[in-house]
Amino acid sequence: MRTYSLLAPAKINLYLEILGDRPDGFHEMAMVMQSVGLADRVQVRANGTDRFQVACNHPDVPIDASNLAYRAATLLAQECPEAFARFGGVDITIDKHIPVGAGLAGGSVNAAAVLVGLDLMWNLGLTQSELQELGARLGSDIPFCISGGTAIATGRGEQLAPLPRIEHLHVLLAKYRSLSVSTAWAYTTYRKQFGEGYIRERDRLDQRRQAVHSGPMVSAIAQHNHQKIAALLHNDLEKIVLPHQPKVAELKAALLAMEPLGVMMSGSGPTVFALAETAEQAQTLQQRLRRQFPDPDLELWVTECMSHGVQVMAQ
Ligand code: ATP
Repeated sequence: MRTYSLLAPAKINLYLEILGDRPDGFHEMAMVMQSVGLADRVQVRANGTDRFQVACNHPDVPIDASNLAYRAATLLAQECPEAFARFGGVDITIDKHIPVGAGLAGGSVNAAAVLVGLDLMWNLGLTQSELQELGARLGSDIPFCISGGTAIATGRGEQLAPLPRIEHLHVLLAKYRSLSVSTAWAYTTYRKQFGEGYIRERDRLDQRRQAVHSGPMVSAIAQHNHQKIAALLHNDLEKIVLPHQPKVAELKAALLAMEPLGVMMSGSGPTVFALAETAEQAQTLQQRLRRQFPDPDLELWVTECMSHGVQVMAQ
């Protein structure tokens, strides 16, 4: 029986702007996505049956057909029926390190790992963009999770343009274990409150997308200027999530008062991240935050920006 073990890293959003509505009901986005070192481990192992089975060590992750990793396997089986008939089903084991419902794309990167792992196991020889196209059918963040690193994401978030890698930029992640934010709720509420300001003309949408592509965040990344990157952090969803989650707003304010390079909420939250020049500075931030918030419900991780997405660890 063949087994593949994959490393599935979380992402943060250095920049998240909601541009408008799309005819398909999703939002038109302009984001800068960044992989970080905090990662799940996903194992796919041929099980000699015609079924997929998921196991996960985290109680909040569903192990039924709603698990994104399960859905990724099912999609690939539908798309490649001959390979599925030949190689059969797999057991998918998710060793969760990425917090759940955190705005860190934990489910998406599990699905990305299954696509990469099954492509190898079933000898499909799909290109990265073919895998990304399949992934986009399940979730807008999955294409980025496959390639990872640093990238601009537009459209629903599935249209990617790679950016120069960000090196030696350290990250403190902070999340209350008991808090989670539904991504769907955050976007629906944003539309209700700010939908009037959405860009509706195609030309203006193109212009705005172009402005992000050639904008100051992209220049800062190209110049490897960490201070500028930190000063340009942005997330439209903070306007929705922070007023709704006072503990997250308080956490962000406390981190800002410690004057790291920059602080922002990731995705639809509620994870807040702070950027630091060195691992020591990130660890000092972690210790100071821990002293200020001894609450064991608050989880903290020191990690750093990574230049890759899903990686095969062992076979
Ligand atoms: P995103 O940043 O992509 O919006 P998120 O980090 O906010 O995602 P996830 O951790 O992906 O959120 O989980 C959101 C919900 O998806 C969970 O509450 C869980 O019920 C469901 N889910 C399905 N599959 C998975 C998976 N493999 N890992 C985690 N959650 C999953």
